Amino acid sequence: MPSPVVTRCAPSPTGYLHLGHAYAAGIAFLRARQAGGRFLLRIEDIDLTRCRPEFTDAIFEDLAWLGLTWEQPVRRQSEHFVDYRQALDALHERGLLYPCFCTRKQITAEIAAAGQAPHGFEGVVYPGTCQQLDHAERIDRMAGGEAYALRLNMAAACARIPTWPLHWHDETAGRQTVTPDLLLQGFGDVVLARKETPASYHLCVTHDDALQGITLVTRGNDLFPATHLHRLLQALFGWPVPVYAHHHLLTDDSGERLAKRKNAPSLRDLRDRGLNPSAIWQMAGLDPSRILD
Ligand code: GLU
Repeated sequence: MPSPVVTRCAPSPTGYLHLGHAYAAGIAFLRARQAGGRFLLRIEDIDLTRCRPEFTDAIFEDLAWLGLTWEQPVRRQSEHFVDYRQALDALHERGLLYPCFCTRKQITAEIAAAGQAPHGFEGVVYPGTCQQLDHAERIDRMAGGEAYALRLNMAAACARIPTWPLHWHDETAGRQTVTPDLLLQGFGDVVLARKETPASYHLCVTHDDALQGITLVTRGNDLFPATHLHRLLQALFGWPVPVYAHHHLLTDDSGERLAKRKNAPSLRDLRDRGLNPSAIWQMAGLDPSRILD
């Protein structure tokens, strides 16, 4: 028996959902529905500085209004920091994490002084400054209450993987190959726990997709490169590897990706203008009858 399809929609409650979110949610919902599988909704609210409970409530309300249904209970990441802590501890015990005290400013200065700015998938690649600190200094600074992030020692992490390359599959782009070079150049020593948030998107999303048995991850293609890193985390933890279906992002008339900060109308704005769910699905380019019937 092939395993049933399990998809998820994993929005972050940092604002009201717009058409792009409806599209992403609709795809995940439809893929589960078409396969007779399961559709989960997960609230990715670890960033306590940006996420707000009223936006979480609005996610439930807006998606229900659009006619989507999902399994209960909904996992809210902010209720599971203990899980992410355990995953971090496991990496720490294997010597794969180190505390980083650098501020953004210091990192920029360090890179400027080195005369080069190696760009990865997520901006400049961390020059590894705090990797050089000795144990005593780390302990001192931590004991002194200095804020620190936890970074993955990428070279050490890659050395723990017995067989290279790693692979993952995207339904459109096909089989992807992940090498240590790609990870070192594309990410370097990535942050897995932030100074202000005791976990990171990369860690939590990969952890939860494994925990919740997600078999098909549908998400925007802005996250395509991130999947290389997620594949490394899966290999380090022995987590299963879902299939991925990265989809395009909806754009506005000028070709700009829809975004709250660019004033994309929210779903509730559209609703207030009198549009009904069927019209919204149509605007998102999805066939309403496949969702609403
Ligand atoms: N929480 C992420 C976001 O809102 C999506 C995570 C994912 O689908 O992997 O952008």
